[in-house]
Amino acid sequence: MKPEEKIINYFTILKSKKIIGSSYIFIGNNFSIINRLLKLINCTDSSRFCNQCWSCKRIEDLHHPDLLIVKPDQTSIKINQLREAVHFLSRKSYYSPKKSLIIKDSQKLTDQAANLFLKTLEEPPNNSFIGLICPKLEDILPTIISRCRKIYLPYSKGKLGKSRDEVKDLLRTGYFGSKKRKDFSLFIESLIILLHNQLKNNMGYSDNQPDDSLSLDLNFEETIVALEDLFKVYNAAGNVNTNLALNLIKMRLRCN
Ligand SMILES: [Zn+2]
Repeated sequence: MKPEEKIINYFTILKSKKIIGSSYIFIGNNFSIINRLLKLINCTDSSRFCNQCWSCKRIEDLHHPDLLIVKPDQTSIKINQLREAVHFLSRKSYYSPKKSLIIKDSQKLTDQAANLFLKTLEEPPNNSFIGLICPKLEDILPTIISRCRKIYLPYSKGKLGKSRDEVKDLLRTGYFGSKKRKDFSLFIESLIILLHNQLKNNMGYSDNQPDDSLSLDLNFEETIVALEDLFKVYNAAGNVNTNLALNLIKMRLRCN
């Protein structure tokens, strides 16, 4: 069974027993699972989700009155955004069994915003579902982590912003097009996915095609170190000096 299906099945069981928790941290980049989970939580027509009902369709479009998605306002998630979110959770739900709050890039919560949110995580209003999404657990305040259940998302496959060959070309040339920042960010994201696939291939538990990985000559430790640096660059992709970052990455991947 694919890791993604395991997560969905796990939540299907929780749903059938009516014991879906209220606060979760999802670690990873795979938003499609979150979308499916939100459908599952809200769909009353199926034990999983039906993709047909009003609620499922609204969630597919991320436009549902009982769903709020918070993401960084430019570089951070600010206290005002969290105040709104807390207010949203305190309201009654209109159409769904639960009100769902998703905080994307929750590593970008300011300390103020995070502190404001602690009480809500501690004692969430009835029928709340709070999902914090972050690429890496280490970037989240321990006080937040301790209040949430943790779910590791499998990396999304087949959704590379850049193909393997494009990634290889960019590693070699460092030429990012006119939308440099966006291009760079997609490049880093794709590189993370490819490297993660390589790690899984090397550990021998992968159903990936060889094409999904970069086949770099790196050992396990080196791959982990490279991934850590890639996450750092990815989180700072809006501000980082792309040339310097690219040189660091090439050094880590030993492809100078
Ligand atoms: Zn449905």
